[in-house]
Amino acid sequence: MNTAKLTSPTGLGIRNDPAGSGNYGAPRGKRRHNGIDFLCTPGQTVRCPVALGRVIREARPYAHDFKYSGLVIQGKHLAIKIFYLDPWPGIIGTVVKRGDPIGIAQDIREKYNGSMEAHIHLAIFSFNPELILQKEI
Ligand SMILES: [Zn+2]
Repeated sequence: MNTAKLTSPTGLGIRNDPAGSGNYGAPRGKRRHNGIDFLCTPGQTVRCPVALGRVIREARPYAHDFKYSGLVIQGKHLAIKIFYLDPWPGIIGTVVKRGDPIGIAQDIREKYNGSMEAHIHLAIFSFNPELILQKEI
């Protein structure tokens, strides 16, 4: 499998509910959605969506709400941020491969009055520009 490919961290597809679409670029008021939202069942195991990477740190989706958390995973060609999960114990600093458990899905519905479906947010944090560099000028 192409090492730059992502797979669903929940085994489920992209959300689309009354609160909005989980597709990249979907409207979010004045801004646009900067990732993909994969449907989840709160409490389920969330799995590594990249071929191989290192869990470099915990990430916080909200500056003032520490109830929700996530991870930054650095792969060979891309780094991702993944939100709304309780990190798997002891996972910070370890090497993970596709499908490895990385956390337990939180329930983001509680923050939005139940108008959106529970999901895991996945965004590109950095990307190797050489992969899309056009070499013929
Ligand atoms: Zn999202």
